[in-house]
Amino acid sequence: MKKFSTLIIGGGPSGIVAAISAKRVGQDVIICERMPRIGRKILVSGNGRCNILNEKLNESFYNQTARNMVRSIFEKFGEISTYNFFKELGLEVYSRRDGRVFPITNQSSSVLKVLEMELERLSVPVEVNFEVSRISYSKGRFVATSNGNKNIECEKLVIAGGGKSYPALGSDGNCYKLAKEFGHKIIEPVPAASPLLVKDRLCHALQGQKIFASAKSIVGGKEGYESYGDLLFTKYGLSGTAIIDISEDISIAINRDNKKDVCVSIDMVPFMDRETLKSEIKRRIDKGWKADDLLTGILPNKFGTAFNDLLGRRGAENIINTLKNRLFKVTGTRGWNEAYLTSGGIDTRDIKESTLESKLVTGLYFAGEILDVSGRRGGYNLAWAWASGFVSGLTS
Ligand SMILES: Cc1cc2nc3c(=O)[nH]c(=O)nc-3n(C[C@H](O)[C@H](O)[C@H](O)COP(=O)(O)OP(=O)(O)OC[C@H]3O[C@@H](n4cnc5c(N)ncnc54)[C@H](O)[C@@H]3O)c2cc1C
Repeated sequence: MKKFSTLIIGGGPSGIVAAISAKRVGQDVIICERMPRIGRKILVSGNGRCNILNEKLNESFYNQTARNMVRSIFEKFGEISTYNFFKELGLEVYSRRDGRVFPITNQSSSVLKVLEMELERLSVPVEVNFEVSRISYSKGRFVATSNGNKNIECEKLVIAGGGKSYPALGSDGNCYKLAKEFGHKIIEPVPAASPLLVKDRLCHALQGQKIFASAKSIVGGKEGYESYGDLLFTKYGLSGTAIIDISEDISIAINRDNKKDVCVSIDMVPFMDRETLKSEIKRRIDKGWKADDLLTGILPNKFGTAFNDLLGRRGAENIINTLKNRLFKVTGTRGWNEAYLTSGGIDTRDIKESTLESKLVTGLYFAGEILDVSGRRGGYNLAWAWASGFVSGLTS
């Protein structure tokens, strides 16, 4: 049986960086990855450009329950450390006005390549096609067994197997089971950063139309997070960045808390206040514009016809109300294949905030998306993966 001081389960961003930091502080480390290659999510991230970080990094961009842990980890490996880490590996980056940081090549393959080069330089072995399906623990030593019955022994184990989103890329939630066997509680994982299912005539009529809008979640009558961005009407409901950004609260309400009174409020004309919009529509009516053309130049052409068909007889006031504050009742979210992120995972109350070691089992650590830590869109989730990976690797 092979023996190492540290075994990392999962060759995603958190597992790769955990292996690098562990090796740099002298641990004899191996990565076990169930897929034929490591870092597949890195390759698809940011639409192939990999939004590796956000310059406005702090704990307020993460779920409330994880903020103390996130703050503690970013104190050890935050924005500057992440920059320096990648700079040292040779990755040049640039940042956008909204704080998002990308590789200068705009290619996520550059990010994976510098990480792979560092693993090679440090001689970290990577066992691919090795799915850890069982772990036994006795007298301070873990034995990880693959589904092909290969065994590896170690003193320190980092579980960095990811969440449940995009299962075809490797992380399908199987590592929750491993954690449970050590007594860890799992906050029910639900798809986050996901399109929403809505049954509404307007979605049907406007299928395929994309606009700039503001979207706000409303759960049980209580207003939640608001986001500005693209809104895409689809045959099943609503998608686009404005929806993806507010979808986590909605997914938790519907999929975890079984709530029924869940809506999205959309302002389809966020660049005009109600009064300005009203006087512009009135000006158009006074000038004798045809009903089908009333929204021309404000929204894509199809909107005029759709609004006239659905609301024309109810008058201009109704059209304005619908444009500025339309409530869509949400019936569900799209599934794991379309969710960029998992909300939920290993309950962070059982994890030491400064090292990410389990409070239940000495030598057991967690890193990345497997933990109940979810960040906003914009580089916050990879930032968490690098930082939690780095810190989890440090302690021997
Ligand atoms: C399409 C898409 C685009 C994204 N874009 C961005 C972005 O631009 N910026 C950003 O900040 N975030 C982005 N994210 C989110 C980000 O990619 C994830 O939060 C991040 O990859 C999580 O890293 P991780 O190492 O924890 O898990 P993962 O990347 O999921 O890696 C886990 C690894 O563990 C392996 N594994 C699982 N179980 C086992 C087992 N039993 N044995 C061995 N190996 C196992 C898996 O195969 C996988 O390789 C995106 C996500 C998606 C799906």
